[in-house]
Amino acid sequence: MMKINYQQFSIEQLHQLLVKGDITPETLIDSALKRLKKFSNLNAVVTSLHKDAEKKAKKLANWTVEQDNLLFAIPFVLKDNIATIGQKTTASSNILVNFVPSYDSTVNSLLKNRQAINLAKTTLDELGMGGDGLYANTGYVYNPWNREHITGGSSSGSAALVAAGVVPFAIGTDTGDSIRKPAAFCGIVGYKPTYGLISRNGVFPYAPSLDTVGIFTNHVDDVAIILDSLVKKDLNDFTSVASNETNYFKNLTNDVSGLKVAVLNYDSYHWDKSVKASFDHLMKTLSGYQVKVDYLDFDQELLKALLPVYMIISFAEATSCHANLDGINFGVRKPGKNYRETMIKTRTAGFGNVVKRRYVIGSYALSEGHQKELFVKAKKIRRLIVQELEKIFAEYDAFIVMPSSNPAPKIKTILKKTETLPKKHDYLEDLLLLANFNGSASITIPLTIVDGLPIGININSAPFKDQTVLNLAKFLSDKINFKNKLLGEKDE
Ligand code: GLN
Repeated sequence: MMKINYQQFSIEQLHQLLVKGDITPETLIDSALKRLKKFSNLNAVVTSLHKDAEKKAKKLANWTVEQDNLLFAIPFVLKDNIATIGQKTTASSNILVNFVPSYDSTVNSLLKNRQAINLAKTTLDELGMGGDGLYANTGYVYNPWNREHITGGSSSGSAALVAAGVVPFAIGTDTGDSIRKPAAFCGIVGYKPTYGLISRNGVFPYAPSLDTVGIFTNHVDDVAIILDSLVKKDLNDFTSVASNETNYFKNLTNDVSGLKVAVLNYDSYHWDKSVKASFDHLMKTLSGYQVKVDYLDFDQELLKALLPVYMIISFAEATSCHANLDGINFGVRKPGKNYRETMIKTRTAGFGNVVKRRYVIGSYALSEGHQKELFVKAKKIRRLIVQELEKIFAEYDAFIVMPSSNPAPKIKTILKKTETLPKKHDYLEDLLLLANFNGSASITIPLTIVDGLPIGININSAPFKDQTVLNLAKFLSDKINFKNKLLGEKDE
C-alpha cells in the first residue's frame, strides 16, 4: 500500500489514487482521523462522527469506485448549524445541546448521495453570530498556524480543520463574512456562492436575507468540484434558484484574458508594506495577461455604513427568526410556571452574551418607535450600497478587495475589546459584507504571510457569475503559489 500524506493532494488527485487502487476509502478516513486527533487541541469539533465514518469507509471499500463521482469516499466536516439526521446539531449553543434533528439538511443529503464521508460537526460562534471563533458554548477555537491567535468566525472549526489538513474540504455558512474571513486568517480558500445557489434547507438561520452556505478547501479546483454537487434548485428553500451555469469544474480555466477587473483603491490607507507590495505585484501580473485592471474609489460614507447597516439588519432578522428557540418546540427547556416564565428561563440560560446583546439591539431596531429610523433606514442604505456595486458590475467582471488588513489577531487582544462599536472603527475590516448585501459570489484565497500568519485576498462578482470568480481565483492562486506549511507536516 502506497504511504501518503494525503493532505497535499487535490480532490481530483485523491480520486485518481482511489480509482487506481493505490489508496482505499479506509486509507483516507484513517489518515483523516489520525490527523484529527493530532489537531484535537484546536477545539474545532463539537461532535465526532468517527464511528459512522469508519463504518462507511469499510462499506465503500467493497464498492467499485464511482469513476465519475469525484467526491466518492472523500472525507469532510460540516459546521454544526447544519442539520444532520439522527446526529446532534447544536449550533454551538447551550439552548440546542440536546437537539437531534429528525431530518437532514439538503447539503448533507447531497453530499451523502455522493458518498462523501462526514467526520465531524464543527464548532462555530454561537448560532453563527460572531467573527472571532471565541463565542461557542464549548470554548475558543484555536488557529492551527499559531494557537495564540483566533481562527476568525463564525465557521471557525471548519476553517481550522481544512487549514490543518485534516480534511480536503469543509462546509460553512456566511452571513457577513463567516467563511471568507476565517479562510483569510487560516491561509485557505473560502467561498461564498451567489445567494440562493446552495440550498439552506436544514441550516439554522441567522439572518435569512444574507445567509449563504459555502465551502472551505485548500485548492480552488476543489471548490468547483464540490459546487457541482451542491448547486441544485431545492423546493424546500424558497430562496433557492436554478443556475444558468453548470459544470463549474469542467469549465474552470485560468485563461482570464479579456476580463475587466476593478480593484479597491487602497492608496490612502495604512497597511503593511509587504502585503501592499504583494497585492500590487499581483494586480500588475494580472494586467500582464490581457486583463484590464482599474483601481476604483468606493463612496467612503457608504463603506462607513457597512457595519452599522449589517448589525441592524442581521440582528433584527436574528431576533425575529430565533423566536422559536423558546424551550417549547425543541431544544433545552428550563420549565417555569407558565409559557412566559418558561421562555424567559430557557432563553436566559440558553444563550451566551454575544447572542443576547444582538437580540437586544435587534429588538430595539424593530420596536415600534424605532423601526423607521433604524431597521427601515438600514434597508434603504443597503439598497444604496447594492446600487454602487451594481454600477461596478455593469462595467467590470470582478471587484477585488482585501478580506482583512491584518492577519489573525491574538485571542487576548480580542478579549480586551467589547462588542460595542468602537469610537474609531476601521471599516476596511468590513468589506466582505458587500457580497452579502447584494448576494454576490465571493472567494477568499491566501495571498502571503505576515509575521508567520497568512493573509488573503478576496474576489467578488455579480450574482450568478460564480464561474468568473472561480476562474480568476484559479489564475491568481496559480500565480501566488501559496504554501500552507501545515499541509507539508508529516504525521508520525
Ligand atoms: N462576523 C460577522 C458577525 O459577527 C459575520 C457572521 C456570519 O457571517 N455568520 O456577525
